[in-house]
Amino acid sequence: MPKVSFREDRCKGCKLCIEFCPKHIIKVDKSKINKKGFYAVCITNQDECTGCSFCAIMCPDVAIEVEK
Ligand code: SF4
Ligand code: SF4
Repeated sequence: MPKVSFREDRCKGCKLCIEFCPKHIIKVDKSKINKKGFYAVCITNQDECTGCSFCAIMCPDVAIEVEK
């Protein structure tokens, strides 16, 4: 099963990963602020992830890793 992980401190909150995830399973995590002062993003339902890697490809800050 694919696994998505975030290097939270690289995230600048641009939300491109959220927009491009075809499964709509990435969201802003308002419970955490990263070192850059942005809300981090998180995955809401890992089980639905297809491993397509669109999120990782779109992230301008290389903050997402998808293990297949
Ligand atoms: S790998 Fe694809 S399905 Fe999984 S979180 Fe990223 S964009 Fe969404
Ligand atoms: S695309 Fe990258 S920088 Fe933008 S919100 Fe997603 S993880 Fe953060």
